[in-house]
Amino acid sequence: MMTIQWFPGHMTRARRQIQDKLKLIDVVIELLDARLPLSSRNPMIDDILQGKPRMIVLNKADLADSTVTREWMEFFKNEGHLTIAVDASTGLGIKEIPILAKQLLKEKIDRQIAKGINPRAVRALIVGIPNVGKSTLINRLAGRNIAATGDRPGVTKGQQWIKVGTEMELLDTPGILWPKFEDQNVGYRLAVTGAIKEEILNVEDIAFFAVKYLSKYYWSPMQERFDLGEQPRDFDNPDEIVSVMEAIGRKRGCIVSGGRVDLEKASSLLLRELRAGKMGTFSLEAPY
Ligand code: GDP
Repeated sequence: MMTIQWFPGHMTRARRQIQDKLKLIDVVIELLDARLPLSSRNPMIDDILQGKPRMIVLNKADLADSTVTREWMEFFKNEGHLTIAVDASTGLGIKEIPILAKQLLKEKIDRQIAKGINPRAVRALIVGIPNVGKSTLINRLAGRNIAATGDRPGVTKGQQWIKVGTEMELLDTPGILWPKFEDQNVGYRLAVTGAIKEEILNVEDIAFFAVKYLSKYYWSPMQERFDLGEQPRDFDNPDEIVSVMEAIGRKRGCIVSGGRVDLEKASSLLLRELRAGKMGTFSLEAPY
């Protein structure tokens, strides 16, 4: 994965690139990570899309807590958005995308039909922050490898239309957006999923954040995985969370001379297992 350091100049350029693409398309597919939909959402998205019809696609639903994903679907539907949850890596659920795209343009299409005009395929653009699965989804919808996974904002190439069935065409390059930075917890949530590199946030801090959250909401899977003792009682007591991290490290043999737990090693290991789905499905934020 390539990480992007977003500076104001990059944001301006990303925004301009998306707005150029918006001129070519009818509908936007806003791709979010089902495990952290708000934290993986661009803070200026409404402003950037300028009223272009849009659906919300919650990707990586295979990794998310399905109960929480259903709550998020309700949340976005209440915001007035057509919303679905998919797994772009296998293609589960993506057949709905062209159907929703047509639904978004229903009035326009109906008007054209009433005038005797044969409506053309709906043109769509995928937008989202790095690592949310844009390239994977493009490739799945195309049924072949088109988009190289990994983002390079600023690298432009000729754009092409990919036919998705007979009724939708997709721009082969996605719109790349930046995440929210103001809220530190947003950064940690993204880092837990691997969307932010560990050079930016300290690996032990990321693992601390993850262990605190899992202790509170997904204690059993973590306890079983690492054969842990008691669930922390006070989640706001850092000592209790660090104790859990140490227990994980001991369980995995992350010990340095003198018998001390190598917290850095334990943290990397925990995050790797978590990201690989070894502790089952989990979500990192819930709407209600
Ligand atoms: P992009 O930066 O938005 O284009 O994201 P990529 O398409 O490169 O995907 C980033 C990573 O997430 C890759 O390792 C993909 O294999 C993985 N990925 C994408 N979609 C899914 C999904 O629905 N489920 C799972 N488990 N992994 C996914």
